[in-house]
Amino acid sequence: MSKDQQHDTPDVDALARSMLLVHGAHDDEHAAPRPADDRRRKPSVRDPQRSPALREATQRDRDRYLNSGLQPIDCRFCHVSVLVKKLGPEHTSVQWNSDAAQRCAYFAEVRESGGQTARSRSCPKLADSIDHAIAEGILERMSTAPSPGDG
Ligand SMILES: [Zn+2]
Repeated sequence: MSKDQQHDTPDVDALARSMLLVHGAHDDEHAAPRPADDRRRKPSVRDPQRSPALREATQRDRDRYLNSGLQPIDCRFCHVSVLVKKLGPEHTSVQWNSDAAQRCAYFAEVRESGGQTARSRSCPKLADSIDHAIAEGILERMSTAPSPGDG
């Protein structure tokens, strides 16, 4: 057994030496294109420091993208929550779920008076709440479509 170990030790040394040689040869081989390598390496050195924040931002962007910019807005009068997406300064898309449509006081009124809620695009009281959300910066415009003037 000890014989084997004695055999192993020189083998490991030899291996280490050969690795060093390979490493050295490797270095010499790449002596010429090295500046280019360094240039390529620099960003990747900075990446580990940047990636956590970058990952967070990316995750936020992804969440926002997955939700297609939809943000929950509460109708301050009906106390229902609907998903609102701001498409432009005066253009919002409101996504009603059936629960909100059932509970909205305005829609209830329309139903009671025999009207069709399908013909009313949105509760005017909710529209006020949306206006407030926009004014207060709660509802942000989608950043995925930058204005042409940005370039
Ligand atoms: Zn409402």
